[in-house]
Amino acid sequence: MDWFNGLHPVIQALLATTFTWAVTALGAAGGFAAKQLSRRTLDGMLGFAAGVMIAASYWSLLAPAIEMSEGKDIPIWVPPAVGFLVGGIFLWGIDKMLPHLHIGFSAEETEGIKTSWRWTTLIMEMCHNSKGNR
Ligand SMILES: [Zn+2]
Repeated sequence: MDWFNGLHPVIQALLATTFTWAVTALGAAGGFAAKQLSRRTLDGMLGFAAGVMIAASYWSLLAPAIEMSEGKDIPIWVPPAVGFLVGGIFLWGIDKMLPHLHIGFSAEETEGIKTSWRWTTLIMEMCHNSKGNR
């Protein structure tokens, strides 16, 4: 990793971004290449992605926020907990307000504010792909 640390920060950011783009594209290519994935495989893949995202959000966001809260007049867990709840409420509000359609749902089952947008515009959330995960 010494070669990487010796690079200019802009080049480091470019390489890191290119790497994450490449592995994301590789994962997406696997989805396109597979003709038919079983429900069990999809559930496993979603669970894996959820685990990665939870771990990344803890170690990259929550743990540093807890560490930065030390030395204040309030318990160290309060600022991160408040931020976590506000972030969750914000995403819940976006889901309720922004017009969208979950994959696998009919055009009549749009969520959010009513709109005349076409169904291709409304399909923007990929994480919920069945009626049970609404
Ligand atoms: Zn939704």
